[in-house]
Amino acid sequence: MLRITGGKVYDPANQVHGEVRDVSISDGRIVSRIEGGRTIDATGMVVLPGGVDAHTHVAGAALNFARAMVPENQRQAVPFLHTPERRMGLGGLTPTTFATGYLYAGMGYTTVTEAAVPVLSAKHTHEELRDTPLLDKACLLLMANNEIVMDLLETGETERAGHVVAWLIWAAKTYGIKAVNPGGVAAWKWGKNAKGLFDPIEGYRNVTPARIISALAEIIDGLGLPHPLHLHANHLGMPGNVATTIETMKLLEGRRAHFAHLQFHAYGGDDWPTMRSEAAQVADYFNAHPGFTTDAGAILFGNAMTITADGPWQHLLHELTGKKWGNIDVENETGCGIVPYVYKRSSLVNAIQWAVGLELLLLIRDPWRIFLTTDHPNGAGFWRYPELVQLLMDRDYRRERLKALPAKAQKRIVLGDLDREYTLSEIVTITSAGPARALGLAQKGHLGVGADADVAIYDERPRGEALFKTPRYVIKGGEVVIEEGQVRAMTEGREFVVRPGFDPQIEDYLRPLFQQVYTMSFDNYPVEAERVHGMQVAECRVSA
Ligand SMILES: [Zn+2]
Repeated sequence: MLRITGGKVYDPANQVHGEVRDVSISDGRIVSRIEGGRTIDATGMVVLPGGVDAHTHVAGAALNFARAMVPENQRQAVPFLHTPERRMGLGGLTPTTFATGYLYAGMGYTTVTEAAVPVLSAKHTHEELRDTPLLDKACLLLMANNEIVMDLLETGETERAGHVVAWLIWAAKTYGIKAVNPGGVAAWKWGKNAKGLFDPIEGYRNVTPARIISALAEIIDGLGLPHPLHLHANHLGMPGNVATTIETMKLLEGRRAHFAHLQFHAYGGDDWPTMRSEAAQVADYFNAHPGFTTDAGAILFGNAMTITADGPWQHLLHELTGKKWGNIDVENETGCGIVPYVYKRSSLVNAIQWAVGLELLLLIRDPWRIFLTTDHPNGAGFWRYPELVQLLMDRDYRRERLKALPAKAQKRIVLGDLDREYTLSEIVTITSAGPARALGLAQKGHLGVGADADVAIYDERPRGEALFKTPRYVIKGGEVVIEEGQVRAMTEGREFVVRPGFDPQIEDYLRPLFQQVYTMSFDNYPVEAERVHGMQVAECRVSA
């Protein structure tokens, strides 16, 4: 039992904005009151629900590939978190499992969403997540380039495709569906990419990116998944991709949808020299469509590691930069490309990207619909979130940083015109309450009775300065795990999964097909339930 007294509580999901009140904890949950137990005096501090990351990449085969690819970075870039008698962690921009847990919890984050898991390597992902302490997790299954599903869409068998998708979600023990460059990753197996949203994918007559996106959104609604389609749209990173982004949003009008790392999808111009921000156009459209959520995918200057299923984009990035390039083919399901990258303030393109992420965060009015991410480790390491918090809360600081951009870049952005400063409640919304709601995790992102007792406590400081950098206390599931900047206790997290309904006969359809096209045996394909630590099966609500 634990009581936190005297702190200013920020709990926007329950309309609490900085009131001094007690928070009581018993058996890992928030309760209305307790007798006895430890008391933490939080006078002069702010008390927030633990952070929830809506989109990050922290575990799995691609991460391991990236760790091995840059041995020269292993000891760089990661701040040191003092962990007496704890296990060691390394990894540069892609920290190893323990370091990932320490660093997230060391900021006050207690739940993360691993946003890209192929079924074929899901066992590996779950093993790494199990080895990542102090955090609860959920995984999103890569699905927009699965050839079995695409073949069913080609012949118009959408209903059967729905059963296959549901079977695969449970086989991989995942929580939702991530679509990456729909069709483009499949085309990359022949060295090609998807073209327009309505152009057929290489090898198909009827399957287009638009068809894949609409079918998946329809299937997800039909299955009643708690989180909507999580979409990495086509043409990521390309100048002029604003047209594709808006067109994609139009396809999903009237539905729920989550647009991943929107920063990488809000560019104007015809080519690299003419690239400019189109954050305002994207934000206007987005603001008018309340069913949509997004995460910023902001970039910060310095080292990054780009890792994405978007194989064709990664090959282009390698050609543009001359940096190392890793490519992983995942049989009939997806692919992956890896390129280490450095964002430079002096680069016109990078300077525009830096501004676009902040512009979207400032121009999208409803903090319940845009979440703080760097698409870690693509835009920056997640441990740099405190820098973004300060940029959002402190206009003067932001203007100062803006002056350091190349003059040419300053003419292609609107950041200088934006006066908005985030309040602390809004910061809590974009880092915890909003992502929890969008993920459908009712027990996360708030401090109401019955919520998981995930709490972060910081010294109160003006205008976001160093907020999140060094919490005084982090409580995970009712246990004090970080105290005064040190890891004090280790807890193993849980994993949230869904088990959508499917026709059990779908296995009779899948088995012979699978044996023909996969190198693995069908019986070895699904992830065993025992492999997923602390598995919590969330409810699927199919509306009539
Ligand atoms: Zn991502």
